[in-house]
Order: sequence, then C-alpha cells, then structure tokens
Amino acid sequence: MKKKVSIIGGGTAGLFLASFLDADKFDITIYDQKASAGRKFLVAGDGGFNLTHAEQMDSFKSRYTPAKFLDKVLAHFSNQDLRNHLSALGIPTFIGSSGKVFPEKGIKPIKVLKTIESHLINKGVKFEFNKRFVGWDADESILFSDGQAISSTYVIFALGGASWKVTGADGLWYNVFQNRGIKLKPFTASNCAFKVDWSSAFLEKHEGKPLKNISITIDNSTQVGEAVITKFGLEGNAIYGLSPTIQKHLSSAEETLVYIDFKPMLTLNKIIDKLQKSSLNTSRALSESLKISKAALFLLKENMTKEAFLDVQCLAQKIKQFPLIIQEAAPIDEAISTGGGLSLDAVNTDFELRQIRGQFCIGEMLAWDAPTGGYLIQACASMGFYLASHLNENYSFN
Ligand SMILES: Cc1cc2nc3c(=O)[nH]c(=O)nc-3n(C[C@H](O)[C@H](O)[C@H](O)COP(=O)(O)OP(=O)(O)OC[C@H]3O[C@@H](n4cnc5c(N)ncnc54)[C@H](O)[C@@H]3O)c2cc1C
Repeated sequence: MKKKVSIIGGGTAGLFLASFLDADKFDITIYDQKASAGRKFLVAGDGGFNLTHAEQMDSFKSRYTPAKFLDKVLAHFSNQDLRNHLSALGIPTFIGSSGKVFPEKGIKPIKVLKTIESHLINKGVKFEFNKRFVGWDADESILFSDGQAISSTYVIFALGGASWKVTGADGLWYNVFQNRGIKLKPFTASNCAFKVDWSSAFLEKHEGKPLKNISITIDNSTQVGEAVITKFGLEGNAIYGLSPTIQKHLSSAEETLVYIDFKPMLTLNKIIDKLQKSSLNTSRALSESLKISKAALFLLKENMTKEAFLDVQCLAQKIKQFPLIIQEAAPIDEAISTGGGLSLDAVNTDFELRQIRGQFCIGEMLAWDAPTGGYLIQACASMGFYLASHLNENYSFN
C-alpha cells in the first residue's frame, strides 16, 4: 500500500519535489490555495526565465546566506543536474553570456510550467486547488479553510515567501506556524530596490537610466553588474544581491552606506594614470578617456567640491568608492524574494520540523537568501530533490 504524501504549496519547490518523489511508493497530492500551480514560477519567467546559473559549484554555493546552509543539498543536485533534469523532461537550456541559464529560445515560461505539470500528471500526481492550509488538528492532520482535514504519512510545506502576494505567496502561513510555537524570523524584502534620496536635478536628467558595469560594496560583499536609477532609488543586479547585508544595516541604528565603484575593471592607479595623461578638461577626460556615464559624472560633480573634483587623486578615489546612503528597502510585496520566514533551527538537516515528525518545509519559506540570477529556483529544485531522495529511501522515524 502506497504511503500518502501531501505537498502543501504548488510553487517551484513543491513541483520539483513532486517530480523527484517515487510514485511507485507514494500517493502524491499537491494542494494549493490558488486556482493553479506555479504562479510565481511563471512571474519569474516574465523578464527572461533565469532557471539557474552555470558558474562552478564552489562559487555557486557561496552565493547563499547563511553560508553552508545549502552546501549538502547543492552537492546532491547541482546546476548541471537541474539542466539535465529539465532536458530529460523536454526543456533544453542554454547558458547566456553572463553565465545565466535559460530555456532554449522559443520555449516560453508557460511551456516550461506545463511540461513539468504534464510530467507530474503522467506519473499520477494529483492536484487540489483552492485549498488553503490554516493549521493542524489535534492529531497533526492538516486543516484547510474549507474545514477539510487530511492525514498523510508525510506532509511537505512549500508555502513560499511573502512577496508578490498575487501569486499566492502571501506569507500568511507565518502566523499559523507562530501560533504553533514554531520558531520564525520576520520577513524582509530581498532582491529589491533600495531608496536613495536623489536630488530633483539628478532625477530630472537621469531617472530611468542604467549605471552599467559598476560594482556596489557594503562590508565585505560586492556585486558587479548594473543598477537602474529610479525615482525611488536604485534597482538591478548590482544591488539586489546585497539585500541581506543592507537589510542588516537598515535594522541597526547606524546609517547604511554602500559604495559604488564606477570603474571596477580599472585600478585606482590606472584611473589616476589615465586622468593625468589626458589633455582634455576633467569632465571630458571622464567621459572620453574613462567612459564614465553622464549619470555618474553628474553624481561626482554634485557630491564633490570644485577643488576636490579637479584633484586627480580625490576624483579617482571617488570614482572607485562613491558613497551612497541607503534609506530603506522597497515594500516587501514588490521584492523578488523574501528573507526571513521559518527559522533554520526549526528544521533538522533533512528539513523535517523538529516539533512535528513526518512534516517538512522546503523552498523560500525557510530563512535563507540568495541573489536573483537563477540561485533561488536552483535552491528550490535542489531542496526538492534532496528531500525526495530522502523520502524515497524509505524514511523511517528512528
Ligand atoms: C518578479 C520575480 C522574478 C523572479 N525571477 C527569478 C529568476 O529569474 N530566477 C530565480 O531563480 N528566481 C526568480 N524569482 C524567485 C523565484 O520565483 C522564487 O524564489 C521561487 O518561486 C520560490 O519557490 P517556492 O516554491 O518556495 O514558493 P512559491 O513559488 O511562491 O510557491 C508557494 C506556493 O504556496 C502556495 N501557498 C502559500 N500559502 C498557502 C496556504 N496557506 N495554503 C495553500 N497554499 C499556499 C502559494 O499559492 C504558492 O503556489 C523571481 C521572483 C519574482 C517575484
């Protein structure tokens, strides 16, 4: 007789978990509060479906916060394993110039989702929609808002974070787990825009423009990439990945300063050398010899005295380390992902809730974080694979 497995949450992590569970051993049902599965997975596909990243696993693993939390899981199911799995399902992928991995050209996000769903349906996985998990009854059965209680050998929660509520990831499960006495960490916006108090003169000229090929640093964390100047502040991959560190500073009483390097490919000395050798005036030397963007030039001029701007050493220093005060994060609902959620102490190394045997949590609902760029989807898939392998190998309570 097959054991019943209930997956609560049919998003990225829940769907991947179901694809790896052994359907000969388990009677698998995915429950979701929305009327269809994988809504955030689809949203992630909107701006280019970045499924994972092709970088070497050693540096790949280092992208996750807290460090080492996912090492074991990623070793079991790597970026290449995810590509192989998708390819076996009929979704070949390619590596873009930045190392990001996408479905091959012409394969739309909906096709990726439908292919995964068809694979699940073919192996006998059932879906039940409009089922909202609201708690447990006295014998640990799962309760839904319509009054139904289900009991299963294994329950896996994959309820997601708390951004883009429209996709179903509303984070309301937080209170349900809190009422149960399970340890949680408050949600924070991650991979999000950050507020900067730009001058109106700067915005008037440069709102909407990208600062390309820059790096941004806070503490020991640096992100290279692009950041777009918006009315609110800055957004883009050069700042998203710094979210955990920026949020840590924002939650303290100190001022939160990040440093932009407008020329990360050039050393300080090289910049000084180029400026000294140029026969052009300083502004033209910046534009023509150093290819500093107009927006960066504006920021440098606006934030330096004339004397400092004309002093090559001072100017080069500012180009390499331009300080910017971050005031706050964008609202959680607008963030690509959320930090916080279920405390990692609340589960054991197999993602089983310490307080409820046979019930597990995976995906973004756990309090880990990573930059966008494929690392989030990869982590969800790897956790799904790891837990499925564990359950497939005849999990025992002893
Ligand atoms: C705009 C955007 C772009 C993104 N781009 C990328 C990208 O390019 N690369 C990348 O790696 N990641 C990207 N992500 C992030 C990625 O999509 C998520 O990290 C990932 O989907 C999280 O998977 P999950 O299964 O943990 O949660 P989700 O996919 O959010 O799934 C959670 C599921 O649980 C259900 N649920 C919640 N509460 C209940 C309840 N009480 N009862 C029943 N069901 C419930 C929800 O309806 C939902 O279906 C992006 C996200 C956004 C918003």
